[in-house]
Amino acid sequence: MTGRFAPSPSGRMHLGNVFSALLAWLSVRSQGGEMVLRIEDLDPDRCRPAYAETLKDDLRWLGLDWDREQTPQSRRTAAYAGAFDRLSALGLVYPCYCTRDQLHSASAPHAADGRLIYPGTCRQLTDAQRAEKTKAPAWRLRVPDREYGFRDGLQGPVSQNLTRDCGDFIIRRADGVYAYQLAVVVDDAAGGVTQVVRGMDLLDSTPRQLYLYDLLGLEPPEFYHVPLLTAPDGRRLSKRDRDLDLGVLRQTHTPQQLLGRLAWLAGLLDRPEPASAAELAAVFDWNRIKHTPQVKC
Ligand code: GLU
Repeated sequence: MTGRFAPSPSGRMHLGNVFSALLAWLSVRSQGGEMVLRIEDLDPDRCRPAYAETLKDDLRWLGLDWDREQTPQSRRTAAYAGAFDRLSALGLVYPCYCTRDQLHSASAPHAADGRLIYPGTCRQLTDAQRAEKTKAPAWRLRVPDREYGFRDGLQGPVSQNLTRDCGDFIIRRADGVYAYQLAVVVDDAAGGVTQVVRGMDLLDSTPRQLYLYDLLGLEPPEFYHVPLLTAPDGRRLSKRDRDLDLGVLRQTHTPQQLLGRLAWLAGLLDRPEPASAAELAAVFDWNRIKHTPQVKC
């Protein structure tokens, strides 16, 4: 089996990122699999090369190693363009001229998590109407009125009707940048990834990604969506929680202290005692990992 780290170099890793990375690594190492690192620097506005170097240094400091590195997403445009062309050839891609403000002011339905469900505004535009537009369009993929479901290794059965719960989604932004949903599928398939372990915040993206695997004729991996770490008051951790980013944590903790604490939060250890990555791999078992959507840190 092949697993992966897929960090976005948009800031310093925080404790929540380390939690997902640790579980991905433990799953691979406890099964004698192969670990791949892929820098997801898709968004030029948010990502910095310096952050990518720091990420790697932080992973090494933690003792979370990898066997090979995939080409960073910023250098994979041709592969994404190829997938985009295949989807276009299926007649499933159309230009969308809606602005963010229009989308939010329209009475579009929202999913349970507050995400906007695209109402299909630009789906039926005629060629003449498109020719009149002056702004560069984003590109959306039509979704079918059907369920895409899978069995998550931790969360159990998950299913979504793409029309009802999601709507046509963007696969290429107006500035030309390919969307995460498309890039992650193309790259996981190209990298031979067979197991994806990542945070619960991406559970909801998975049915869209399964649809893309289907359309592109690719084999999907198995998925494990691990709990999100929250602050003690239940608030989601973010890059703004500086005291929980590795810049600070590396001054105040040893790698063993951090990993042992995270393994305890995950349910793997009975007490928050220091442990190395290798020691944790020796006792790792998915059956012991918490199934809850969130864990307080
Ligand atoms: N690059 C994404 C992130 O850092 C993770 C994508 C994934 O695991 O599918 O949030």
